[in-house]
Amino acid sequence: MPNTGKFYLYEVAPKDALDEQSRYPVIGVVRAECLSCHDVFSASDEPGLTNIPGGGAALTCRKCGSRQAISGARFADFMERFPTGSDAAARLTALAGKKPSPTE
Ligand SMILES: [Zn+2]
Repeated sequence: MPNTGKFYLYEVAPKDALDEQSRYPVIGVVRAECLSCHDVFSASDEPGLTNIPGGGAALTCRKCGSRQAISGARFADFMERFPTGSDAAARLTALAGKKPSPTE
C-alpha cells in the first residue's frame, strides 16, 4: 500500500548512485500527499526528504510539519509494485491491459 500512515506515496524514484552499505536504494525523489493537511509535494532533499543511513527515509510536510520515517523495505516494496515509479502510471498501464514490466 502506498499509504504509509501519515503520507500517501505517489511517486518514488531512487538515486542513480546506490548506497553500497545498504540493501535498499537511496531515495532521490518522492512525491507524496500529507494525510494531515492534504498538501501534495515533491521532495528531493532536506527538509522534505531525509535519507536514513542503512535504508529508508523520513518525509516531512513543509506545510504542517507532519513527519514520518519510512523503512527501506517499504520503499523497495513500492518500487517493486510500481516499477515506473508512479502509482498513477501503473494504474494507467493496468487500464491499458498491459502488466508493468519489472525491467522497465
Ligand atoms: Zn501536512
